[in-house]
Amino acid sequence: MQTKILLDEGEMPKRWYNIQADLPTPMDPPLHPVTGKPATPDDLRHIFPMELIRQEMSTERYIDIPGEVRDILTLWRPSPLYRARRLEAALKTPAKIYYKWEGVSPPGSHKPNTAIAQAYYNREEGIERLATETGAGQWGSALAFATSLFDMDCTVYMVRASYDQKPYRKSMMQVYGAECIPSPSDRTQAGRAVLAHDPETPGSLGIAISEAVEDAANHDNTNYSLGSVLNHVCLHQTVIGQEAEEQVAIADDYPDVVIGCVGGGSNYAGLTFPFAGAKLTGKHPDTELIAVEPAACPTLTKGLYTYDFGDVAGLTPLLRMFTLGHDFIPPAIHAGGLRYHGASPLVSRLVHDGVVRPVAYHQNEVFEAALTFARTEGIIVAPEAAHAVKAAIDQALLCRKTGEEKVILFNNSGHGNFDFSSYEAYLAGKLPDYEYPLELVKESLSRLPVRG
Ligand SMILES: *Cc1c(COP(=O)(O)O)cnc(C)c1O
Repeated sequence: MQTKILLDEGEMPKRWYNIQADLPTPMDPPLHPVTGKPATPDDLRHIFPMELIRQEMSTERYIDIPGEVRDILTLWRPSPLYRARRLEAALKTPAKIYYKWEGVSPPGSHKPNTAIAQAYYNREEGIERLATETGAGQWGSALAFATSLFDMDCTVYMVRASYDQKPYRKSMMQVYGAECIPSPSDRTQAGRAVLAHDPETPGSLGIAISEAVEDAANHDNTNYSLGSVLNHVCLHQTVIGQEAEEQVAIADDYPDVVIGCVGGGSNYAGLTFPFAGAKLTGKHPDTELIAVEPAACPTLTKGLYTYDFGDVAGLTPLLRMFTLGHDFIPPAIHAGGLRYHGASPLVSRLVHDGVVRPVAYHQNEVFEAALTFARTEGIIVAPEAAHAVKAAIDQALLCRKTGEEKVILFNNSGHGNFDFSSYEAYLAGKLPDYEYPLELVKESLSRLPVRG
C-alpha cells in the first residue's frame, strides 16, 4: 500500500515536452499590439531573451533542459506523488485519488519550475534585472528566489489587493533580495493612469503586467518575465506531468481524469500537457481533462475565444485566448493567483477544441473542500490549489454514485501557509461568493481590439 511515490534525482525529466508538436493544426500567432500583424521575434527582443522567444514559437516536441537549470530544480524535484488514501476513505469513494505535490519547492508552489529557467536564459544573454508582476505573491517570490540564485536584481509589481492581504509574501521577496511595489504604482505611466482614474482600485494582474512591461521596455539591462500564460512558461512546467506519468505507472495505474486549477494556465499545462498529448495522438484517447477556475473570474467558462491584450494598457502582443476583456478587474477573491482576465493560448486552444473541459466554483465551496483535504491529508493548500481539490472531490463523489473505480489525478500546485487571512475569513463565515459580473464583463468585451 504505497502512499507516497518518489523518483530518484536522476529520474527527473531531461527534456521539456512541447505540446505544439502534437496539435492537429498550428497555433494562431501572437499579433503586434499596434500593427495587428503577426509578431516577429524582433518585436519581442526588447523584453525577452532570444532563447525564450525561440521556445515560445517552437514546434519541436522536446526541448533539452540545461544542466544548470536541472541542478537547481533537483533542490526539490522530482516532487512526490501522493495517493490520497485518507481522503478516499472519508469520501467513501471507490475511486483512487492521486495528487502531485508542488508545494515542496522553497517558495512553496510550482512557479519556480519556470522562474529558474527564465532567470537562467536571461542571465546567459547578459540581462542584470528582471521586472515582473505578481498576483497572490507566489510568482514574485518564485522569481525573487530564482534571481537570487543567479545574482540578478528583481523588481516585482504586486497587485494591491494581495499586497494588503498577504504581507508575508512581500517579506519573502525581500528576504530573497527583490524589491516589491504595490500596483498600481506611481513608478510607471500605466500605473499613474489607473490611479488617476481610481485611487482606491484593488489592482489587477493586467495592470501590474503593464507596469512591469513598461519598466523592462524602458531599461536596457532589464527584461520582463511572466509567470504564466505564455507557451514557454507552460513548456517549463511540463516536468510536473512527465514525472507524474512515471509515478502513476509505478503504481500500475493511468489516470482516467486529470484535474488542475487555471489562473493563467501554467500549472494546469504542466500537469496535463503530457496526458493531453497522449490523448491527441490517440495513445490514451479517453482521458478526461478538467480545468477549474473561480466563478468570480470565469475566463474559460464564460469568456470569449478571441485576440486580446495580456495587460490593461495594451502593451503586450495580442494573443488568441479565452478572455473576459483586458480591462476587466475581477472581484478581490482570495485565490489571487486565479484573478486573470485571460488564459494561456495553449490551454485556451485545448478548451476550444473540446480536449479540455472547464468548470467554475465559488470560493466558499472551494474552501470547504480545502478544509476536508487539510483534515484528511494534512496539507493546507493554497486557495488556488483548493479549486483543483474541490473538482477532485466532486469527481470522487460521482464515482461513489456510479460505483466506478476511476483513477483521478490532480495537481496540488502549492501550500497555503501564507494564506491564513483567507482561511480565517472562511472560518468566520465572512467570505462573499461573488456573482458573475455579467454587465462588467460584457462592457469590457465590447472594447476588445480585434474580433476573432
Ligand atoms: C500562481 C498559482 C496558480 C495559478 O497560476 P497558473 O499559471 O494558472 O498555474 C495556481 N496555484 C498556485 C499555488 C499558484 O501559486
